[in-house]
Parts: sequence; structure tokens; C-alpha cells
Amino acid sequence: MAIVDQALPHIAKISPYIPGKPVSELQRELGLSRVTKLASNENPLGVSAKVEQAAKLALKTLGRYPDGNAFYLRAAIAEFTCRTMPEVMVGNGSNELLEFVGRVFAGPGDEVIFSQYAFAVYAITAQIIGATPIQVTAKAYGHDLDAMAAAITSKTKLIYLANPNNPTGSFFSADALTAFMQKVPANVVVVYDEAYLEYVERDDAPSGLALLDQYPNVIVTRTFSKAYGLAALRVGYLLAHPDIVNLLNRIRAPFNVNELSQVCAVAALADQDFVAASVALNKQERSKVITALTHMGYTPLPSEGNFVCVNMGPEAASINQQLLQLGVIVRPVANYGMADFLRISIGTEAENQHLITALAQVK
Ligand SMILES: *Cc1c(COP(=O)(O)O)cnc(C)c1O
Repeated sequence: MAIVDQALPHIAKISPYIPGKPVSELQRELGLSRVTKLASNENPLGVSAKVEQAAKLALKTLGRYPDGNAFYLRAAIAEFTCRTMPEVMVGNGSNELLEFVGRVFAGPGDEVIFSQYAFAVYAITAQIIGATPIQVTAKAYGHDLDAMAAAITSKTKLIYLANPNNPTGSFFSADALTAFMQKVPANVVVVYDEAYLEYVERDDAPSGLALLDQYPNVIVTRTFSKAYGLAALRVGYLLAHPDIVNLLNRIRAPFNVNELSQVCAVAALADQDFVAASVALNKQERSKVITALTHMGYTPLPSEGNFVCVNMGPEAASINQQLLQLGVIVRPVANYGMADFLRISIGTEAENQHLITALAQVK
């Protein structure tokens, strides 16, 4: 008997998460010196200088275990969000927290609702915990909140919402979220994933935090991986009722966020000028990239994030391959059922120019 037959069947059939191709991998494969990675929605400005300074100091303390309760980081997050420390939990990326919620609240026989084209981790989590994934058909590549509310049954335990959503960039308004929450029973946990919150510049944007007082079943997740420029360090946080945080803490490994990550996240949170500069760069460059793509005859989906998702037709996979040859890494999203699309992160001016030049060459 093969060892795979010994694995739990619901685990063996999971399709693993497909990350963006690392720069070093493409350099290794093709011997290219110049590689532009626009595949993982990272901050193209990299790390803030203040974070670098903090990291240098922290290196001296790496011989000791970190603070398992992440006191200073949770205190900084509580202050920044105007919430209390018992409402704050930090994770090894918000990815870890998204999974903790699943493991605590749902299992075999339970239903977990998320949108078609929503962040892949929701579906993967539902599978990991052996729950039944309920994927609700999208509307214009975004969340159809009416249909998601209608999909709630007595078996529903958990709903994941991403706003803006990745990989599509879609967005729903505060009014739409309020109307949705009114239809969700109090015993169903709603995860409101704000990974791209910082980039949203709309008057009708919902505030996840505003939901917390009214709905003790809401969990807001955020990350340091995108606008804060700490993707490599894997830090995210959630805000929720202290009873929820208490439950989630029971399954957390003792030192889930390492010392360097805690120190750098504190410094990153304190450097809001860096975040503002990153957001401003994204705004300016996103519109340039959209204009260039439009001139080439493509129609990117509307995006509130630091990336655009573009329909390239049946040639998408081949265009992706040719871009790689030219040293540009973007993200195919065929695993999302969007085989004709490529997702392109917004880079620096020079990186975006590399993309645009390469794309023109490919065409
Ligand atoms: C990138 C992303 C995350 C965050 O991932 P981390 O684990 O914090 O790096 C969460 N949700 C969405 C929708 C994302 O795109």
C-alpha cells in the first residue's frame, strides 16, 4: 500500500497554494540578471529605513525566545486601531490566522462560505479542516453578497470576505456590507479580510473595525505583508471579541511570531509616512499601468488594490511564459478558474516600465 493512501483523504486531495515565482528561481533557471517580480502584491519600495534600523538592533537578541504574547506589538496594534489588547492577536502572516479561525469554528459536516475567485486560502482552509467548502458564484468577478447571504444554511459556521479581493481587485461598499451583516445569524463567524485596506481610497469603503462593537461574531484580519513591506517576515493580525481571541490562542503554537518580525512590525506600524508614500506610489503607478494596458487593447478589472487582473484571452499562459523569458514575473490565476487572466502587481516606475516594454514585445 502506498503511503499516500495512509493520509487522511480530505488532506490528500487538496491542491496546494501556488505562490508567485521567486526572483532567485527565475534567475537560476534562465541565468537572467534583471528580473522584475510583479507576482505577489509586495511593496515595491521594500522595507522602510526605520524598520531596517530596528531590525539591526533586534539581531542582538536573537539568542532568546521571543515574547510569546507579543506584548509590544499587540500594544502598538491596539493603540493604532483604537481597540484593546485582549482583542488583538498576531499571526505568522494573516494566513495563519485565517486558518486558526477555520480550525476553531468549523469541522466535518460544517459549511464554510466564500466567493468564487476569492483568496485561495479560504478554500484551502475549508479543505484542511474537513469542512464543506461552499463557493458562491461571483458577480462581475466580485463578491455577490446577496447570493452569499442566501447560501447560509443551518450548517454554515464561517464566512470569509475579502475587501478588496485578491486576485480580482474587486471591492464592495460599506452599505453592501451592512446589508449583508443584517442577514448573517449571530452564530455564524464572519472573517473580514482587509489585506489591502491601506490602498483603498474610496468614500464608501467599509470599516471592519466599526463592525466589531455591533457584531461579536466578526473577525477583522490585516497584514504587514503588503503596504507595510514586511512580506518576508510573515506578520499579520486580527481584531475580534476577546472571547474569540481566547479560543484562537488555544491552538496557537507558543512562539508563532518570531522576534525579528515582532520588532519590525512595531517599527513599520510607527512609520505611517512610509505607508503613505507606498500608497501614493501605487495610486500613481496603477493608473499608468492601466493606461498602458488599455492602449494595448486589454481591459483590466477595476482594482482597489496594489495589483490589476487582466483578461489576456486564450493566450494568457503563453504570454506569461514569454514574459518570464524577458525577466518579468506576473501571476497566472488559472488555479482560480481564471485561465485567461494574469494578475500583475504594481511595482516601481522602472519595474512597471519593464513590464510594459516586455508586454509590447510579446504582442
Ligand atoms: C496577501 C493576502 C493575505 C495576507 O497574507 P499574509 O499571510 O499576511 O502574508 C491575506 N488575504 C488576502 C486576500 C491576501 O491577498
